[in-house]
Amino acid sequence: KSQQFPQPPLELTDIFIAVKTTGRFHKTRLALLLETWISKTKDHTYIFTDSPDEDVSSEGFNIVVTDCPPEHSHQALSCKMAAEYDHFMASDKKWLCHVDDDNYVNPGALLSLLEAFPADSDIYVGKPSLDRPMRAQEMLEGNKTRDVHFWFATGGAGFCLSRKLAEKMAPWASGPRFEQTSAVIMLPDDCTVGFIVERRLGISMVHSNMFHSHLENLLLLVPSDIPKQVTLSYGWFENKMNSVELKGVFTKDEDPSRFRTVHCLLYPTTSWCPVALKS
Ligand code: UDP
Ligand code: MN
Repeated sequence: KSQQFPQPPLELTDIFIAVKTTGRFHKTRLALLLETWISKTKDHTYIFTDSPDEDVSSEGFNIVVTDCPPEHSHQALSCKMAAEYDHFMASDKKWLCHVDDDNYVNPGALLSLLEAFPADSDIYVGKPSLDRPMRAQEMLEGNKTRDVHFWFATGGAGFCLSRKLAEKMAPWASGPRFEQTSAVIMLPDDCTVGFIVERRLGISMVHSNMFHSHLENLLLLVPSDIPKQVTLSYGWFENKMNSVELKGVFTKDEDPSRFRTVHCLLYPTTSWCPVALKS
């Protein structure tokens, strides 16, 4: 048996944070993230998009301009996920965390979650998008299909993969293979990750309720629990803004996503946050 050396503690900078965006959301969504949580994780956050942006790159943010089409199609989104995977594999980081451009990432909560896992384990952690496994048809040779069931983490809530697991995924995820695997089950990128991990590798996803997408009712999050969550989101649902409800100095018009309010709660000394007055 090889000798066990103590592992250095996990650091925030060991986490490769991949943000998926598209040209038309640079001003409307990405800018808010750059001002808030990405300002705290700048060096190890990578923005995957489809159009160059001199305003963003000149500020020193890591922007990866993919050749992926600027569409919401399965293929276009899988193309970006494949780019995130390949860039992570070429890096020296220990974890790959994917988020959308309508997610707030709480860096401290993310680090606490990931450092609790044993080093070098196979981990796929996120929020299941359904309360039961996904059912899909896997395409086989000769026009045959097979029913498959697997859990997957909603991409819109964010999820993380350990390096050890990401390495095992390579036969189905590296280069052009991710898009090919996505085509085998005819499902989007986040489902494809679940399919590779659970069906191809037989490794179970770790279910976490600390990741949040705008597919859930975000009003249900208790204000005192909000600063402990790993990710948050916002979005329109039935003509209403679905966001966390948190009181603060910013009105709903000034901060409809509530991301600025959350950020000032977590980092009160930020220059644009109101000066905290002693009572
Ligand atoms: N997105 C993209 N290309 C597009 C449209 C969307 O890369 O043409 C990204 C978008 O930036 C976001 C994710 O895909 O990170 C999900 O998009 P959105 O939030 O608009 O839709 P949802 O799937 O959450 O309803
Ligand atoms: Mn969304």
